Amino acid sequence: MQQFSGRAAAPGLAQGSVVWFAETACGKTPQGTPAQELEKFRLAREECTRRQAQLYQAAQEQAGEEAAAIFELHGMLLQENLEEYVRPYIEQGKPAAEAARLGMREVGALFAALDDDYMRQRSEDMAELGEELAAAIEGGAAPTLSRPAILAARQLFPGQAVSLPKGLLLGVVLQKGGAQSHMAILARSMGIPLIFCPEAGPDWHGRTALLNGGTGGIVLDPDEARQAAYAQSARALARQTALLESYRGKPTQTANGQSVALLANIGGMADLPGLQISDAEGVGLLRSEFLYLESPNWPTENAQYAAYCAALRALPGKPVTLRTFDLGADKTAPYMHLPACANPEMGCRGLRFGLQNPHLLKTQLRAALRAAACGPLGIMFPMVCTPDELDKALTLLEECRAELTAEGTAFGKAAVGCMVETPAAVLYAAELAKRCAFLSIGTNDLHQYTFASEREGEALYAAADPALLRLVGMTVQAAHVQGCRVNVCGQLAADPAATRALLALGVDGLSVPPGQVLAMRRHIADITV
Ligand code: PEP
Ligand code: MG
Repeated sequence: MQQFSGRAAAPGLAQGSVVWFAETACGKTPQGTPAQELEKFRLAREECTRRQAQLYQAAQEQAGEEAAAIFELHGMLLQENLEEYVRPYIEQGKPAAEAARLGMREVGALFAALDDDYMRQRSEDMAELGEELAAAIEGGAAPTLSRPAILAARQLFPGQAVSLPKGLLLGVVLQKGGAQSHMAILARSMGIPLIFCPEAGPDWHGRTALLNGGTGGIVLDPDEARQAAYAQSARALARQTALLESYRGKPTQTANGQSVALLANIGGMADLPGLQISDAEGVGLLRSEFLYLESPNWPTENAQYAAYCAALRALPGKPVTLRTFDLGADKTAPYMHLPACANPEMGCRGLRFGLQNPHLLKTQLRAALRAAACGPLGIMFPMVCTPDELDKALTLLEECRAELTAEGTAFGKAAVGCMVETPAAVLYAAELAKRCAFLSIGTNDLHQYTFASEREGEALYAAADPALLRLVGMTVQAAHVQGCRVNVCGQLAADPAATRALLALGVDGLSVPPGQVLAMRRHIADITV
């Protein structure tokens, strides 16, 4: 018996024998000239277009009209002039498959700005379509099943999942993918548990597995005791799902009646569908870096405006807090030409980088102010260390307001806040709070800079070490004196073991991954502070 702990992406339980889907690279050819790469793209597009009608039919039968609409949409999108988005990447020397991925992401950003709700919500389909085109270029084969089984593979596209005979797909384990990918959304609507587990491999083929798509737990070759436990989990899961659903639409309150704002963190357009089903009361942290990292060049004001409006439309009327770019450190792209630095985590990053490149920060601030006319957008500056830095950022914001006014461009009022991610920001909390409507504690960085212990490395100190909690308490006290609210948006906000302590310290809001909102609301309801 072997046990694995993967990333849960679609809930449900499955028991069955594993079929490993080995992708072939039959069509994969070495990179050719740009003209040859363009031809590969055109052929792949024709092939994908042909498949959409069949997939639509299959999805309608297996998962209903809503899931089938993905393929109708893909078919429609393939009719569009996609080549103009892909060709520039090929001309820059990228292979066709990569150019298809990049070009489709670019179209996705435009798509997010469309007026039609349905089209906008499905903007991530573009990235998925890019993957499908890339797979067609690289020659991926389709999986097949002849009996009920759990499918394991490196990667799977929605089209491949619905093309399997109805009822035979018990569950899916993939090495690669995101919990908010369309494959995950489709798996959820098909009621099929999905787990991402990098350890899955061809040696799993033919072995019996138990999957728990809610926890990410996988057991290979289970003994009798495990099988009995599985049956018990099936019963418990049914009860748990019903219980969490009963918290949907309810206010977030502790057992003794303390209200807490329960918000969600999002890191890109792909998170919007998950956000919409999360029941979050707003977005506490929109990590805007995705726009910069997914783009071949600095994103334009209009592209940013479209993306921020799309985030606002995902939760109509609810607050969305946009964090200005926290670039630098590990978040860089080649076009940025950031100066080399011995210790990038402590180098030119976050607001420091913005202040050294005010034209870039102002482009983002203008886009944000314009988007604030579409809904309650907040603007938050990252990696602030001193009040002086914040003042400089606020001056740039004021300049943007003045420019937009002079141009006659519509913009909205945006609540302004800053992140507290450094010990210096904690010590300056009173001064920062005087200038802000809210502070948001980024415990991920605050932990690393407090303990001189890198966040990606081995956990040397507890996430909720009392030293960190004291810093949270100091921030809350100083901010509340100024009438300024304090949220926590680092990972600690989603750690049930820390919730009671954070609420007892007076934290006003918690911002957690979208999928944890209902579970956190339920957890908070049991806490007395
Ligand atoms: C943090 O530092 O806690 C935070 C929320 O920001 P990020 O994780 O994006 O650095
Ligand atoms: Mg941070």
